Amino acid sequence: MSAPSQHPLLHCFIDGQFVPSDCYFDNINPVNGQKIANIAEADNRQIDLAIQSAKQALKGPWGKFTVNQRCDLLHKIADRIAERQQEFIDAEIADTGKSLHQVQTIDIPRGAANFRAFADMARTHTGETFITETPTGEKALNYSVNKPLGVVAVISPWNLPLLLTTWKVAPALACGNCVILKPSEETSSTAVLLAEVMNEVGVPNGVFNLILGRGKHIGDYLTSHQNVDAVTFTGASATGQHIMRAVADGVKPISFELGGKNSAIVFADADLKKAVAGVARSTFTNCGQVCLCTEKVFVHRDIADVFIAQLRQQAQAIKIGYPKEKDVLLGPLVSKQHQEKVLSFYQLAKDEGATFIVGGGVPKFDDERDQGCYIEPTIISGLADDNRVNQEEIFGPICHISIFDEEDEVIERVNNTPYGLACAIWTENVSRAHRVSPQIDVGLVWVNTWFLRDLRAPFGGVKLSGIGREGGKHSLGFYAEPVNICIKID
Ligand code: NAD
Repeated sequence: MSAPSQHPLLHCFIDGQFVPSDCYFDNINPVNGQKIANIAEADNRQIDLAIQSAKQALKGPWGKFTVNQRCDLLHKIADRIAERQQEFIDAEIADTGKSLHQVQTIDIPRGAANFRAFADMARTHTGETFITETPTGEKALNYSVNKPLGVVAVISPWNLPLLLTTWKVAPALACGNCVILKPSEETSSTAVLLAEVMNEVGVPNGVFNLILGRGKHIGDYLTSHQNVDAVTFTGASATGQHIMRAVADGVKPISFELGGKNSAIVFADADLKKAVAGVARSTFTNCGQVCLCTEKVFVHRDIADVFIAQLRQQAQAIKIGYPKEKDVLLGPLVSKQHQEKVLSFYQLAKDEGATFIVGGGVPKFDDERDQGCYIEPTIISGLADDNRVNQEEIFGPICHISIFDEEDEVIERVNNTPYGLACAIWTENVSRAHRVSPQIDVGLVWVNTWFLRDLRAPFGGVKLSGIGREGGKHSLGFYAEPVNICIKID
């Protein structure tokens, strides 16, 4: 499709230049279904050029930068994002429809913070040293140096676009790699601004390349490319499985952050007020479109009635509307396609006989928003643990409430899922918190909180939720490989 001129054109960024494409597709605003931009779709030749320029930069200036020079530059990237914060906020809202409060407090500041945090961690990332003495009397000095992987393909999703992109781009650059970023086709705008920032602060050509396009069209060519040295991916588990097959021939290092079907457990000894507010937040934040969001709530029988009544009140009090309207918590879902997917689960729940405690449909505005992708916050109950609604990731503002009696019972029921990303436990009993947390088969357990992150802590999932850990030394461990150098001492 050729590009009409009345809408902005979002271009790929290759070897330090924005380049036009032969093919563009529509960028749609989920608030009202209106087209807002034309997004370029890279062709194979452009992907080749991006990878070539990245290889060249590794041999050239970037490969000769000291760690401190690289890290100083990452700080400048963070500073420039902060200076252009309003543009980043507007672009993220236009692509996703998420609320101003969330974009202002989470997406953009945390996106910038990733560059600062990984720059500071990389400065002190060191290798290992051993004096070796063999039984036959030989001696050697063994040490390791951390070498970048080379050209890293970063493939990111639409739910926290800048935050999740920089979560991978920042440590990859801090470790000395060059990057080919492929953001989600739903949310390319902040990636384009990031490319501008790279130029503005003097990141050498070829170090950061941006390839735009639809994953199904261009993903395989990128991930299976013989000159891409590693693939780091955040997205759906099915896409992860597909990428794993695509990289198998090259035996490339992969880091996968995939889907979730996360539970909250509310014990009878929980602080009820905190638990209700916490579960409401973990279910409805970003319209349920965070991989860590709660979709299943297990509440102890003794407090179930009062918990459900209070959670219903919280859901009913949520203001749905324009992202920049005062006090709006819920904007639309990201796209019509995603709205259809979430609504199909609402329908499935109805067909399977679920009780709808609140929600279940689409809000009516009688204005342009009726063409958007809005959806009601929804709480249901009454389905079995092995029902598809309780097994598959919905990725919308919905939770199913089940009642439990015993601690061992709830641990087993929470673990009854093919996913293993996160769990939130609500209890005032500290022994119970320590006892239960390690028994949940996930990568991350929160106790009496949710979405409280330390960038140094390991992050990732088990089972269908991912491979590997990122965060802190785990990211540095993935984006740089230790090379062992052994020097014989005579
Ligand atoms: P998605 O898998 O559809 O797309 C993610 C990215 O992969 C996009 O950039 C897309 O263009 C690309 N892609 C699609 N097909 C590809 C292919 N064949 N080869 C290469 N790339 C391809 O996921 P999404 O819908 O954008 O994001 C939502 C999913 O992401 C949910 O499942 C959510 O749980 C998951 N997620 C996980 C985490 C985590 O940290 N574990 C964080 C955020 C989102």
